[in-house]
Formats: sequence, structure tokens, C-alpha cells
Amino acid sequence: MKIQFIGTGTIPDIANSASILINDHILFDMPNGNLKAMIRQNIEIMKIDTLIISHTHADHCFDAPFLLWYKKNYYKVGYQLSTKIVTDEVTRNTIETLTKLSYFSSARKVEKEFIDAGDVNNIKICDDVEISNEPMVHSEIKYANGYIIKDNNVSIGLTGDTSYCEGVRKIASRVDYLICDMTLETGNDSHMGINNMLELLKDYPNLKIIPIHMHDKTRKEAKKLKEDNLLIYEDGQVLEL
Ligand SMILES: [Zn+2]
Repeated sequence: MKIQFIGTGTIPDIANSASILINDHILFDMPNGNLKAMIRQNIEIMKIDTLIISHTHADHCFDAPFLLWYKKNYYKVGYQLSTKIVTDEVTRNTIETLTKLSYFSSARKVEKEFIDAGDVNNIKICDDVEISNEPMVHSEIKYANGYIIKDNNVSIGLTGDTSYCEGVRKIASRVDYLICDMTLETGNDSHMGINNMLELLKDYPNLKIIPIHMHDKTRKEAKKLKEDNLLIYEDGQVLEL
């Protein structure tokens, strides 16, 4: 499995907002500014055929219309124009409203297929990996979804934004790598912190944790820790598993 860290930060930080590209074609979250971040990282954007959006906050879905716009305007023969968008009903409305408000007629016309987050447990949506869903708890947000993505070699967990909830522990117990929210030094009811990672590492000693959605200060503090299984990646880095 190939994992590219397009963004590892959060809103007020130097790093791009959190976004992960898997096997060059499955994109997890599309924060504001992400199209430009992908262009700077020389990503072949036409290859993206599946967009998974964790929840409706702007720094996770506001560039979705720009992805649709790009695919319509820069379409190349041999690529798939239609995009599968895996998300919840609230985020679906957000994306459809944003696409209308964008006044990009090409984005409005482009083919897309919304798939409800829970339905990925029952239908196979990609040939190269299996995807399953696990609900998260993220402040007042009605739907926040984490996922497990696995192939024959490896399994990864993606939490999106979340507090330290039962869903996080469920994913952690089932995967080799957990790519997760670590916005803060100390977790709260919206986001996880370094303290939650240390707890997970204690309970799941074989788990490797790759935090994303980090404030710059959190990243700096995490780098000081001597934890072999807490791996800090920077924007643009690629991990081959
Ligand atoms: Zn959020």
C-alpha cells in the first residue's frame, strides 16, 4: 500500500491541513487549499476516483468542488471522470451546496456518486483494497467517520477528527498502522492529544501510530518523545507498506 501525506497539520499551522492519498487514487479528506497542495506535490489528480470525507468541517471538505472542477476541465482519455464520494448525509449536503455556490458549471455537471459511509461495510468500492467504516465522536458534529483500509499485506486505520472514543480503540485493535487525529498535547471532546497516543501505545504495543491534524506545537512536543511506534511524517512524504 502506498500512502502519501498531502497534509499533516490543521487550520492555523504551517503544515497543510490533514489529507491522505492511498494507492494514488483514494483520497481521504479534501480540506480548503488541498487541490493546490496536491498540485505542488506533483500528484496525478485525474487518478483520484474515490474521495472519502470524514466529516463536514471546512478543513475536511471545502475543496471538494475544486477536485470535481479539475477533473472535468483537465480530463485525460483513459482516466475515470466520475468520482465516488464516501461520506455522511450532512457532508453530502455541504458538498452539493458548495458546488452550487462555486458557480463552476463544470463542477456541477461532473459525474459523481455519493456512497453513504456505513454502506462501505457491505459493498466493495475499490478493487485494490477493502474499506470498512467506524463512527467517531467529534464534539457537536452529528456524523464523524473513521475507516479501516486493508489489502493482502497491511491494514491501516484513519480516524479523521475525533475525541478519544471507543471507535478509535476498536480501529486501533484491528490495524497495523493508525493514522489519526493528534491535534493537541492533551485531548478534549473534539480532538485527541499526545496523552491519548501514549495510552494507545501502552494498550496495543504492536501498533504503529502516525499522527496527523497536528498543531505545530503538538508536532514539536511529539518529536521530543522517545516512542519508537509514534512516527511523525511531514507534508509530501510517502510511506510504502
Ligand atoms: Zn473537525
